[in-house]
Amino acid sequence: MPVIIDGKSIAAEIREGVKREVTELNTNGKTPGLAVILVGEDPASQSYVRMKNKACAAAGMHSITDNLPADISQAALLQKIEEYNQDPAFHGLLVQLPLPAHIDTQMIIESVNPLKDVDCFHPYNTGRLMIGQPVFLPATPAGIVELLWQSGIELSGKHVVILGRSNIVGKPLAMMLAQKNPRANAIVTLVHSAAEDISRFTREADILIAAVGRPEIVKGDMVKEGVAVIDVGTNRVEADNEKGYRVVGDVAFDEVAEKASAITPVPGGVGPMTIAMLLRNTIQAFKMQLNVGK
Ligand code: NAP
Repeated sequence: MPVIIDGKSIAAEIREGVKREVTELNTNGKTPGLAVILVGEDPASQSYVRMKNKACAAAGMHSITDNLPADISQAALLQKIEEYNQDPAFHGLLVQLPLPAHIDTQMIIESVNPLKDVDCFHPYNTGRLMIGQPVFLPATPAGIVELLWQSGIELSGKHVVILGRSNIVGKPLAMMLAQKNPRANAIVTLVHSAAEDISRFTREADILIAAVGRPEIVKGDMVKEGVAVIDVGTNRVEADNEKGYRVVGDVAFDEVAEKASAITPVPGGVGPMTIAMLLRNTIQAFKMQLNVGK
């Protein structure tokens, strides 16, 4: 049986650690603050934002959601972002994606003050990440690296195959895992939809990370014995239950678990880590802006 990597409990420990740090750093009545801008009424985004606010509150941080109308103009949104960029009560600022089609997402990403950019989407931060000098680490990739590290999975010299090259997961993760440092130093292959047959690559993986958003695309016969598997996918599939759906990953868990040495479940693997790492970034932004702590 493989080790089931328990993201929920690892994330809970990180969140406890952040909470302790907030208490210790809470000098002169100042508290780390996160501002979240949410445009429109997308239910999935609303739910993510609620989870972020709840997690901040549980960690003793101050957070708000500024819910703006879906038809807000680009100029008005930029103006709002600038207000939060200037507001010393908020050390972290994020704009929940996706944005409505009439908004230029890249321009919005680039308007966030890089020192408040706790999502690590601004080119200043992604560029620093690429050269191995990060200010912040992007939340989902950082959560994956933490899961691998805490599970004692050796990366140095190992072949990591990442499925998916999004700017949020695959690309930054590839950059992080290829760095010459003790938590990385891997040989990385980045696979995407142009691959005619992804199994050619997945079979070569010592560590396989799936972030494509295709339900159970990775089957048991596509991996080698002993592979460590991180499943980022969060896919809703129809189910005969009250909700009418269940959430599955990009990996056919039961089949792949038979061959894996370690594997993350969905849910309960990568998902909880993302918010824990966002909290870490927020406290880091606070410390940098107030010049306190390590
Ligand atoms: P995305 O932006 O849709 O990117 C998907 C990537 O997968 C693209 O690079 C795409 O290739 C590639 N791809 C799609 N179908 C493929 C196929 N059949 N074979 C090979 N490559 C294929 O997705 P994302 O934002 O990275 O998210 C990926 C999954 O992770 C989703 O299920 C999402 O919900 C989940 N996710 C979870 C968390 C979490 O915290 N748990 C966080 C972020 C994302 P092209 O580039 O060629 O189009």
